[in-house]
Amino acid sequence: MVAKKKMSFLERTDNEVFRIIAEERDRQEFRLEMIASENFTSPAVMEAQGSILTNKYAEGYPGKRYYGGCRYVDAVEDLARHRAMELFGAEHVNVQPHSGTQANMAVYFSVMSPGDLYMGMDLAHGGHLSMGHPKNFSGRIYRVIPYSVRPDDHRIDYNTLREMAKKHRPKMIIAGASAYPRIIHYDIFGDIAKEVDAILMADIAHIAGLIVAGEHPSPFPHADFVTTTTHKTLRGPRGGMVMCRKEFAATLDSCIFPGMQGGPLMHVIAAKAVALAEAATPEFRDYQKRVVKNAKRLAEALLARGFCLVSGGTDNHLILMDLTKQGITGKEAQECLERAGITVNKNSIPFDPLPPAKASGIRLGTPAVTTRAMGPTEMEIIAALISNVLRDPLNETVIEEVRTKVRELCDQFPLYHFNGDGTDS
Ligand SMILES: *Cc1c(COP(=O)(O)O)cnc(C)c1O
Repeated sequence: MVAKKKMSFLERTDNEVFRIIAEERDRQEFRLEMIASENFTSPAVMEAQGSILTNKYAEGYPGKRYYGGCRYVDAVEDLARHRAMELFGAEHVNVQPHSGTQANMAVYFSVMSPGDLYMGMDLAHGGHLSMGHPKNFSGRIYRVIPYSVRPDDHRIDYNTLREMAKKHRPKMIIAGASAYPRIIHYDIFGDIAKEVDAILMADIAHIAGLIVAGEHPSPFPHADFVTTTTHKTLRGPRGGMVMCRKEFAATLDSCIFPGMQGGPLMHVIAAKAVALAEAATPEFRDYQKRVVKNAKRLAEALLARGFCLVSGGTDNHLILMDLTKQGITGKEAQECLERAGITVNKNSIPFDPLPPAKASGIRLGTPAVTTRAMGPTEMEIIAALISNVLRDPLNETVIEEVRTKVRELCDQFPLYHFNGDGTDS
């Protein structure tokens, strides 16, 4: 007789949501996740995030809350703050922002008034929508002067940046991007900001994990504020965080609460604490090293197959493919790769003649596949699979073949093995 498997709470009370999650779990398990901003967080992080801490209201900060009963959530928020301070070498940390965009908003509110001017990376050259998109608060409340990469080598043009800063005298300069495959030189940004008496904010949303592991230079001590997400290379729960110099601590905290948020998500803050402890381990450093090595190997393998990469390669965890030569748009590439089991996102390339909804490129990242222990051999295989699809995007036989190979590859690198009740199998 086969013992009946125990049903989970969710399965019993809401079978519709339960089944959607099961399908999403299959998608994550059996497809190649190449989106550069995504990762697979640990079961420990998810356990904290799925905990009873979600029940607690804790407006305010540890020791200064507007609610009773905050003893334990105070302890967990202090733990998260101290772990982050130690990990990044920051003077002050606020772990309450609900997301990376909220983290950026907190800094803008701290240093600028409506109508003030700042400089951020051009969205079409790798900047994030919170750096001046016309529909985003960052483009509606403030005036933005975007800076660009050079047309020849696709690196940030620091000389032009300096000239522009001298001319426009911005209140703040942002160093950071969502689709820039090269090292960001915070020391040069720091010099320029000093010369024009501007605040320097580093947005390390994508590369926080690399920085912790020493695989990318740290924005400290050059930046006045450092913002990050906690869910990209840092591999924690979905959320944001701001670090700053002591002198800005009180202003920053009050801009987040009561300035722009109500109660903090204490379950997420607990999960941030767990992720920050994981990020302090030698295993995490080793993981980040492998992320960068894998990205390099993947880039070399794509170049060897005749593909064109923005800036000619990568120093970090991401690659921007320019598909102009192949004659397909980023949107088309994203769609045919998706049907083949490879998840990527279309992405504008510098000086892109196409609108962002079509785009001439796709962005690839290695953080997620490296978390499931794939290495250089698998990067070679992935490059070949991507190449097969993109060279013949309408060939259903090729797509079917790649889909089968993706499935085999994923089977060799299992991701999560849970029983329905959340215990490890
Ligand atoms: C992802 C990202 C953000 C914002 O993250 P959300 O959590 O999605 O709001 C901010 N800045 C940069 C550079 C990013 O890449």
